[in-house]
Amino acid sequence: MNVVNDKTCGWINDLITRTNIKTLQSNEDCEWLIIGAGYTGLSAARKLGQFYPNQKIILVDAQLAGEGASSRNSGYLVDTTLNDGFTSNKELDNYKKKADIYDLGINTVNKFINEHQVDCDWNECGKYFASSKKEDEKILRNFSDTLKKLGFEHNLLSNNELSKRLGTIFYNVALHTKGGVLLHPGKLVRAMIDVLPKNVCLYENSSLLSWNKTKDIISCKFKDGRINAKKIIFATNGFLKSLGIKSNYNFPITLTASMTRSLTDDEFKSIGQPKEWGVLPVRPMGATIRMTKDRRILIRNTAEVHNPFKMSKFDLEKRSINQKIGIQKRFPQLPDNIIQSSWSGVVSRTRNSSQIFEKIDSNVFAAGCYNGSGIGVGTLFGEQIAIKASEENSKEIEAIEARSKPTWLPPQPFLNLGVKTRLIYERLRARSEI
Ligand SMILES: Cc1cc2nc3c(=O)[nH]c(=O)nc-3n(C[C@H](O)[C@H](O)[C@H](O)COP(=O)(O)OP(=O)(O)OC[C@H]3O[C@@H](n4cnc5c(N)ncnc54)[C@H](O)[C@@H]3O)c2cc1C
Repeated sequence: MNVVNDKTCGWINDLITRTNIKTLQSNEDCEWLIIGAGYTGLSAARKLGQFYPNQKIILVDAQLAGEGASSRNSGYLVDTTLNDGFTSNKELDNYKKKADIYDLGINTVNKFINEHQVDCDWNECGKYFASSKKEDEKILRNFSDTLKKLGFEHNLLSNNELSKRLGTIFYNVALHTKGGVLLHPGKLVRAMIDVLPKNVCLYENSSLLSWNKTKDIISCKFKDGRINAKKIIFATNGFLKSLGIKSNYNFPITLTASMTRSLTDDEFKSIGQPKEWGVLPVRPMGATIRMTKDRRILIRNTAEVHNPFKMSKFDLEKRSINQKIGIQKRFPQLPDNIIQSSWSGVVSRTRNSSQIFEKIDSNVFAAGCYNGSGIGVGTLFGEQIAIKASEENSKEIEAIEARSKPTWLPPQPFLNLGVKTRLIYERLRARSEI
């Protein structure tokens, strides 16, 4: 099956349309092949291009580069997460290892944007974990204890202060963490495409159909060509499983989001003219909601087991109604027809929230599964998997490998059944927060 491009994502529609798109239409040999051109694949290609200016490096994507989840996310470059969907962070030591990786991720993105003077609406305004349920204060107080022990600056807020800052009386309790950045995900990934080293050859709209390894050559079949590579890096995140990579350790989840047009001056005044902010839910299936720099409201409030290759217009519209309701609940004073774009995107999850960062065979490497937090971690993992594949080491690789590996998942149909049941349970627990 093929990953398809669509024109639904508001972040992508902000960007200038790219020209000079090359599609693979021949047979090629190369030293390095990278499959997937999101944050992970682009960062791996950038690093390899710097390391090996005289070697042939090919980067391939099934759709336009960067136009998968890397452009379709909510733009939170996180320093901490409260929940990873399925597990709570019980152990401090594990939590610290995870947060260390987030920190390395933020540093990697920060270094990239400084080095290349990237404008991606970078705003170090921190983020809120917020709930309309007063009783969720208990969860936030426990979380606050964890953050205190690890030295993360944060504060707890109640409804009066929150309504001033967010422009909605929906939330009753929140925890604000000072670290973490809000950004424009499309602008960030576009910059990664723009600065690809000259010896990286990018093929787009060229889906890898199958691959095999004989002796020291990895042979990859595409619709109109074949590539033989000495080393390969799989960076297809939500599509790792569909290529048979670590199939029993990761699974795709489809998310949908909507974004409004910019609020008019009057509309903006009616909600108190708040500064840019981002809220993450306290309960795993609640809404992520953001006020952008240019006064647009972004909301993501679905996560489900769905065909990762395509969501029909009808299915997308159904989900967009949920998002309209989510916005109305928080901003009843705004008109109900201000959503301008709705889109879906695919992420990859593991059972224990650990990421994949591995040599899976000689000369075959994979990085992915960021459990919904891949802006920083994907950029970091892309660079570091290139270093690992070059048989070098780094302190970042040591930190990444200090985390436990993803745990085994049951086979189908038990996996989908288990995930769907869990999602239904979480959706019920979070029904007031959608
Ligand atoms: C709605 C939504 C909200 C999110 N919010 C956040 C957030 O706020 N913060 C955060 O950190 N993360 C967030 N994420 C997750 C984040 O977007 C991902 O973790 C990140 O994009 C992963 O980057 P990647 O490069 O590994 O994968 P991707 O960006 O998914 O790139 C993988 C690429 O592989 C390509 N590919 C797949 N199969 C093939 C094939 N057979 N042949 C060739 N190419 C192939 C795809 O076309 C795709 O371009 C969100 C995701 C979504 C969908």
